Amino acid sequence: MPKKCCVVGFPVGHSLSPAMHNAAFKHLGLDFVYEACEVDPRNFVDFMDRVIDGEFHGVSVTVPFKQTVMDYVNVLSPCAKSIDAVNTLFFDGKTLVGENTDWFGIYMILKELVRFKRRRILIYGAGGAARSALYAAKDLDLDIFLTNRTKSKGEKLAKDFDVKYCDPINLPEVDVFVNATSIGLSGQNFLPVSEKWLRRVESVFDMVYTGTILEQTAKKIGCKVISGKKMLLYQGAKQFEIWTGEAAPIRVMEKAIGL
Ligand code: NDP
Repeated sequence: MPKKCCVVGFPVGHSLSPAMHNAAFKHLGLDFVYEACEVDPRNFVDFMDRVIDGEFHGVSVTVPFKQTVMDYVNVLSPCAKSIDAVNTLFFDGKTLVGENTDWFGIYMILKELVRFKRRRILIYGAGGAARSALYAAKDLDLDIFLTNRTKSKGEKLAKDFDVKYCDPINLPEVDVFVNATSIGLSGQNFLPVSEKWLRRVESVFDMVYTGTILEQTAKKIGCKVISGKKMLLYQGAKQFEIWTGEAAPIRVMEKAIGL
């Protein structure tokens, strides 16, 4: 019987994770299989019973379960605890561990972008993705600004991470702009910042990888644009290493998600 892994979310049909992980398992000849589990939030408790019973060797956790799942694990990794979100489950013996690899995906991207002294960064959003971005940016010791549609949430998060909060209509000049909101997903695809402001930004990292208006505009005006698919790749590579103990075949995974 192959070792089974999966991504749990609602909805999850659009996820590129099955293609990415299955290509990597196949490439290394590992007897693993990865599937998508779309679980209605009302049935999440039943899904977690299956996890606790050992049906899955590893689980990727996505929207809307990244925080809910924390109630079911035996142990949280230090970064999952700081970020307050879990995107990866694995067993350490019989202990179910909640880990966060999203931050690592972001860290890899930011590290490359700030290599040549581009150190001022604005993160837009105040959900789990923004928390992971803050954790990564703090680790790189960047000059960090945070903004959010709901001011109270943004201000609280900025305080938690000891960074500067700014109003979305009065943004400071920065080198890197990170979209950590869900703007760009179906039904709400619009430019989250003014084009005039964006023109002064050197690099744009859009976590949403559905060909957003932000991505299109940033490319048109000559910004360096990093797709959210890169984050998917690096956070997935880290998961692969946790579950299999093998180095992730990055090129194979990259190709599988169309990068
Ligand atoms: P959350 O639901 O926790 O947070 C959503 C954020 O988006 C909030 O800050 C919310 O603001 C903001 N937002 C939503 N709609 C609007 C709008 N119309 N105008 C302005 N702000 C808006 O989501 P996550 O943090 O978990 O994820 C955010 C995005 O990151 C998702 O789109 C997800 O797909 C993407 N992501 C990508 C990954 C990858 O591998 N590429 C991995 C993880 C996430 P408010 O507080 O005001 O509600």
